[in-house]
Amino acid sequence: MQNLNLYNTRKGGLTRRDFLWLSSMTAAGYVFGCATDPVTGRQQFMLVSEDTEIQIDKQYAPIQISADFGEVQDGQLNRYVSEVGNKMAAKSHRTHMPYSFRVVNATYVNAYAFPGGTIAATRGIMLELDNEAELASLLGHELGHVNARHSAEQMSKGQLTQAVVGLGSVLAGTQSAALGELAGQLGQISAGALLAKYSRDNEREADALGMQYMVGAGYGSEGFVGLMEMLNSMSKHKSTTVDLLFATHPMSQERYDTAVQTANTKYKSALKGPLYRERYMDHTSRLRAQKGAIQEIQNGEKEMAKKSYDAASNHFRQALKKAPEDYVALCMMSISNLVQKQYAVGRQYAEMAQKAYPKEAQAYHLSGFAKVQLKDFEGAYEEFSAFESLLPGNPNTIFFKGYCQEGMNQIEPAANEYTRYLQVVQEGKYAQHAYRRLVDWGYIK
Ligand SMILES: [Zn+2]
Repeated sequence: MQNLNLYNTRKGGLTRRDFLWLSSMTAAGYVFGCATDPVTGRQQFMLVSEDTEIQIDKQYAPIQISADFGEVQDGQLNRYVSEVGNKMAAKSHRTHMPYSFRVVNATYVNAYAFPGGTIAATRGIMLELDNEAELASLLGHELGHVNARHSAEQMSKGQLTQAVVGLGSVLAGTQSAALGELAGQLGQISAGALLAKYSRDNEREADALGMQYMVGAGYGSEGFVGLMEMLNSMSKHKSTTVDLLFATHPMSQERYDTAVQTANTKYKSALKGPLYRERYMDHTSRLRAQKGAIQEIQNGEKEMAKKSYDAASNHFRQALKKAPEDYVALCMMSISNLVQKQYAVGRQYAEMAQKAYPKEAQAYHLSGFAKVQLKDFEGAYEEFSAFESLLPGNPNTIFFKGYCQEGMNQIEPAANEYTRYLQVVQEGKYAQHAYRRLVDWGYIK
């Protein structure tokens, strides 16, 4: 366990004694407790209360959504997914939770839930679905995780705070680990690092609940089988596009078989219920028009994972020919250049990305990182400040602001930022740098 001081930032300086106290507290871990599982009624060993679940969600879901390049700017698509999601949430066991649903710009195939009810599906998975009943099944499965409090269980294991400092091992052994490593190099939090990693038991329970909710909302249970069929066939062709999905939601033939069996027994009366294929196709027509560009981005990310940056850049360039303002393609072009130390070009693409989606934070981080490397500390500081106002609470930003001030020789403000950073993160190379400077400057005695 890494740290519990995320909600408890203190003002003022940090003595060495404070520092050691913080470290020992974090080693001691969390206060344990029991709660009743809202689904089974059983007593559950639970480390977090419902309020804390909502707080964790508020703190981390925005970081994850930004790592996935923000929600799509297609308001109609988000409204459609929200309508379907809310219909399902009304049939769930925890109707009082503050649910929200959206499509995020990321192109890999995935969907996820945070413990307060923030649920997202990527453009990549939306393109794989065939009808509204499959979408309802996907959202129902995620609602299942929230309702059975799986994410809370997962997140109370200190995995989240580990991920923030780049110690997360969610993706170890998968190809996405390579992409995560790149994000780490740029001081970013990688897509997926904050996601709960569910067990096979969790998956069984979420499937059962998802099917119950979608049938309850009036969909044909065949839709759930369709989703499982799609996932099962994708799981057999491992690639960077799907490995995060299956690293977090393990797929198996058994899940598919169970869906077929349950649809034909328990939910037999709903088997031929409506799937709403046409409605799904209508609402996703603008998204499906981007399919060519999205496939180029997916191929580019595969090359990035192999560190073939020239090949990757070629794919992103092709994507930009098809969709010149695609925020993901612009950010990925920036990242591909930054990791090759082509900082001026990386900055240029980051600035184009900012223009394409001014309210999304990630491009400001990329631009800030490029400017730090170009020793434009003043410019970089402005970028990180803009980033922080769009997306507060990312400790890496605090570190980078301090680093810029150090670059500008503003020792006292830099020391303040480094102190703020160490109150949240005590491990990793940034923490070492911050701590060393505070000792050098006499702030820690
Ligand atoms: Zn799952």
